[in-house]
Amino acid sequence: MIIVIRPNTPRPQVDEVIAEVQKLGYDPRPIFGTEQTVVAAIGDERTHHTLMSLNALPQVEKVIPVQKRHKLVSRESQDGDTVVDVDGVKIGGNSPFCIMAGPCSVESEEQLLSTARAVKAAGATILRGGAFKPRTSPYEFQGLGSEGLRLLSLAKKETGLKIITEVLSERHVDEVASHADILQIGARNSQNFQLLIEAARTGKPILLKRGLSQKIEEWLLGAEYLLAHGNGKVMFCERGIRTFETYTRNTLDLAAVAVAKKESHLPVIVDPSQGAGRADLVRALCKGAVAMGADGLLIEVHPHPAEALSDGQQQVDFAGFQALVKDLQPLLGAVGRK
Ligand code: PEP
Ligand code: MN
Repeated sequence: MIIVIRPNTPRPQVDEVIAEVQKLGYDPRPIFGTEQTVVAAIGDERTHHTLMSLNALPQVEKVIPVQKRHKLVSRESQDGDTVVDVDGVKIGGNSPFCIMAGPCSVESEEQLLSTARAVKAAGATILRGGAFKPRTSPYEFQGLGSEGLRLLSLAKKETGLKIITEVLSERHVDEVASHADILQIGARNSQNFQLLIEAARTGKPILLKRGLSQKIEEWLLGAEYLLAHGNGKVMFCERGIRTFETYTRNTLDLAAVAVAKKESHLPVIVDPSQGAGRADLVRALCKGAVAMGADGLLIEVHPHPAEALSDGQQQVDFAGFQALVKDLQPLLGAVGRK
C-alpha cells in the first residue's frame, strides 16, 4: 500500500504515520519529496490488517492499495486457464464450447423431458431448469422445489445430460447438490456470502452469476470467496446488469466477459436470456458472446414460450434453439473452438 501524506506535514506527524504502519505489521519505506511525502508499506495486504484505517489520520491524504484483492481468482495465481470438469463435460481452456440449455423453470415432467431431448439433439451437453425460483413477487410461480429436482434427475437419467439448477438458500444446499452437477448462484444471491461458503463446501462445480448492479471487482471477489473456501470449480456467468435502458430487461455487458477472461483463469459463461429479456435478441447475443471469448452459453428454451410459468418473453422454442446453435458453428470455427 502507498500512504500519501498531506503537503507540508511536519516531520513528527509523518513519523506518527510510520509508527502506525509498523504497528500494523508492515515494513514502512518513507520517500521524502520536496513538497510531499509518501510512505510505501511493504507486506501482503491480503493477509495483514488493512491500512485503510490510516485514512482516519488528519495528516493522511489517501491510502492507495497496490495488490488485487482477488488473489486466487486472478491470472497471476496460476498458469493457464482453469478447466472445470462437470462429471466428464469439460468447460474452459481449449475444451469444446459448452451449451447449457433448458427451461427457465421446471414445470412438469412432459415439459422438462421434451426440452431435454430437444436441446440434446441440437448440441447441448448440460440441461438447465430452475426448481427453486427467485421471483420478484411472492404471488408469482416459485418453482416446484423438491419435485423439480426429482424431475431434473429423471431427465439426466434418460438423456445423460448434466444438470445445472439454482440454489436459493443455505437451507437447500445439500438437497440441491444431491441432484445437480452444477450449482447455480443467481444474480440476486451473488453477494450472499454465507450461501457462497455453503455452496463451496459441497465441492460441486459452481456457476456464479453477476449481480444485478454488481461491479466486476465485486463479482471477482464473490468467486474469491468460493476459491478461498476450497472450491476451485468455479465459472463466471454474465447475465446483464441494470442500467437506464428500457428496450432490454438488462444490459448484457459483453465487455465484462473480456475483462473476466483477462483478469481470471476461470471459465466465463454468458446468459443471453436474462441478458436481454427478449427471445428475438438471443441469437445475436450468443454470437457476440462467442466473439468475445466466452467458454459457453446458458440459454432458456421452452416447448411453448407463450405458456411458460416464468420468463416466457425471453425463452426460445425448439426450432429457434436448433437454428441458433447451427448459426454459431462458423463463428466457433472463426475463434478456433469446436
Ligand atoms: C435464471 O437463470 O432463470 C435466473 C433467475 O437467473 P438470474 O439469477 O441471472 O436472474
Ligand atoms: Mn429465467
